Amino acid sequence: MASLGKGGNWRNWVGNQSFVARHRNVPESEAELCELVALATSQGMGVRVAGSGHSFTPVVAINGLQLSLEKLNGVVSVNQEAKRVTVKAGTRINQIGRELKALGLSLRNQGDIDSQAIVGAMTTGTHGTGLTLGNLASSAVGFRIVQPDGSVLAFNDTTDLDMVNAARVSIGMLGVISEVTISVMEAYNLKEKLWRDDFETAMAKHDELAAENRHFGFFWCPTPESRHLYCLPDLSAVSTTDKDYDCCEMKVMNITDEAPFENEATFERAAYSSEIYPITYVPNFHEFEYAVPVEAGVAALREIRALILSKHTNCIYPVEYRFIAGDDAMLSPFYKRPSVMISVSGGPGIDYWEFLTDCDTILRRYDARPHWGKLHFNEREDLPRLYPRYHDFCAIRDRLDPRGVFLNDHLRALFG
Ligand SMILES: Cc1cc2nc3c(=O)[nH]c(=O)nc-3n(C[C@H](O)[C@H](O)[C@H](O)COP(=O)(O)OP(=O)(O)OC[C@H]3O[C@@H](n4cnc5c(N)ncnc54)[C@H](O)[C@@H]3O)c2cc1C
Repeated sequence: MASLGKGGNWRNWVGNQSFVARHRNVPESEAELCELVALATSQGMGVRVAGSGHSFTPVVAINGLQLSLEKLNGVVSVNQEAKRVTVKAGTRINQIGRELKALGLSLRNQGDIDSQAIVGAMTTGTHGTGLTLGNLASSAVGFRIVQPDGSVLAFNDTTDLDMVNAARVSIGMLGVISEVTISVMEAYNLKEKLWRDDFETAMAKHDELAAENRHFGFFWCPTPESRHLYCLPDLSAVSTTDKDYDCCEMKVMNITDEAPFENEATFERAAYSSEIYPITYVPNFHEFEYAVPVEAGVAALREIRALILSKHTNCIYPVEYRFIAGDDAMLSPFYKRPSVMISVSGGPGIDYWEFLTDCDTILRRYDARPHWGKLHFNEREDLPRLYPRYHDFCAIRDRLDPRGVFLNDHLRALFG
């Protein structure tokens, strides 16, 4: 018989969110997970899962039962013909990469880091870059989700596509996901090329680079110091400009037949897909990221750049700019809308709040939708306009969990 464990303090990876949970458990099987959820529900407690704690928003906080699924990890089954892989929900993205490589398979796309739990990443809408590539959750095609009474709800894109589109980006509100089935591809190698352009040169090439490369994205750096704050390499040797400020650190990646190599002089390298995607960060920033329609990307970026160069000259973190294909998930920032994600960061030790609210004011004019795992200023009244299926999602959430076992204060205010 499962019993509720001793709780304690939890803080997220970057340190801007913390709370004390009354109980904390690390289940070793789905059966134990079901018992724990049922037990907490019967005692009137809320339940939430912590993935790897890489969200900047209070999406993990709960004062009832906090669960870690770190012992529920690994590949459960593989369908080589259909190119579908089922993994346990606590599996880290980097572990999935290693296991897929051994199976001759690859994820379609990934973000800048690979240390998140797969479901933690999917459920907030985590994305990489690529005009024709959806976010991670758009590859999710089946789920097993533990309900408040400890039962398991299982569905896939054949049995219930609407539920798949509710669950893909659901910020843990439909229950504890124990397994997810992912649509994958035959293994591929990626070739990456980095270089630096000044801002206007980058803008002139924007459309062409987005259309002609599987992946294109860049960091706009207002000052020479900016790139250090994200540990970006010094690209002066492959720069098309003498400027090391107001410049863009450019990146393209494409599928290649070339064998793995690394050329430090040309900033080109190739390797198995999942070995190329991640970059290395240190935890010294608090990030805010909004999706705008792809056609509005350049105009929105120009406004953010002008804001930094004129008013917030101490806010020198790189601005990251990425492309994401539209998808069908009800709460996806990319719902039916190919998008550009614009991310800005506040540095600890400076007062960045006014900067972030100014960025919010600008991006709202472009109907921006927030990344659920990154700082944002959206309120309940903003959401039905931005997310055409907001009410459908809320109706499903309310039907599955009328008592709000899987809500916390932050999410109740937005979706309760
Ligand atoms: C350094 C850094 C780099 C980043 N890079 C990117 C990037 O390139 N692209 C991007 O889009 N985002 C990026 N992010 C944001 C990050 O991917 C998201 O915040 C993501 O949600 C974090 O995953 P996690 O496993 O840490 O989840 P957590 O932050 O721990 O949890 C996220 C949400 O998932 C819920 N959850 C977790 N597991 C389950 C489960 N099994 N069942 C139900 N609910 C669950 C949690 O309760 C919470 O609501 C980055 C963040 C950092 C700090």
